[in-house]
Amino acid sequence: MTKGLRLVLFGPPGAGKGTQAQLLRERLNLTHISSGDLFRHHLGLGTPLGLRAKEYMNRGDLVPDEVTIDIILEKVMSIPSDGGFILDGFPRNPNQADVLDKKLAADSRDLDVVVHLKVSESELLNRLGGRYICRDCQSPHSIGEGEDTTDKKCDRCGAGLYQRDDDAPAAVMKRIEVYNEETTPLLGFYQQRGVLVEIPGDHSVDRVNKLIMTALNS
Ligand code: AMP
Repeated sequence: MTKGLRLVLFGPPGAGKGTQAQLLRERLNLTHISSGDLFRHHLGLGTPLGLRAKEYMNRGDLVPDEVTIDIILEKVMSIPSDGGFILDGFPRNPNQADVLDKKLAADSRDLDVVVHLKVSESELLNRLGGRYICRDCQSPHSIGEGEDTTDKKCDRCGAGLYQRDDDAPAAVMKRIEVYNEETTPLLGFYQQRGVLVEIPGDHSVDRVNKLIMTALNS
């Protein structure tokens, strides 16, 4: 049996990581691990982890590494060694990347590819302002300005939609700033490793997906 692809989806908030992860997961039969979805799941259940994460998330800050790293690595390492995965939203700072790198290397399952979705800041602000999330399956949906959201349901599972607290304008600006300062240094790290692929993410969902598939096949 061939081994599954080990992939990181990298990019700023609103770049389309969650949307592309859903598509790639289905096409390539990969396990999708989203750190943000995991925190929101705990937040919804009101667990101690969710309550701890909430204050950081609402501000647009990163949740501390001592909370984040163990739960994500536990999920990654529970995947069978020949199983592929998509990491979406992790790693997000040099320490997380370093710990992940060492853990995977110790198990001889290094990352195959890091896909960087590049999107302009104006497009990010535009997208996040109209982003609504499914209460159940967490799929992101784009709602046009002025469009009535009252009866909108999830395209995938039919559950209701909501707007994330951290998609409010102040938190969005903070998240973009945190991305620029704490997360973008990882691009150099992965480029040196020879696993970084740059994809222009300003296009439609389908177009971006085609660009990613072409890059993965080449
Ligand atoms: P996301 O859904 O990926 O935009 O993540 C939402 C929020 O969850 C982020 O703004 C952070 O507060 C938190 N978060 C998600 N992933 C991480 C991570 N790898 N490290 C620290 N905090 C994270």
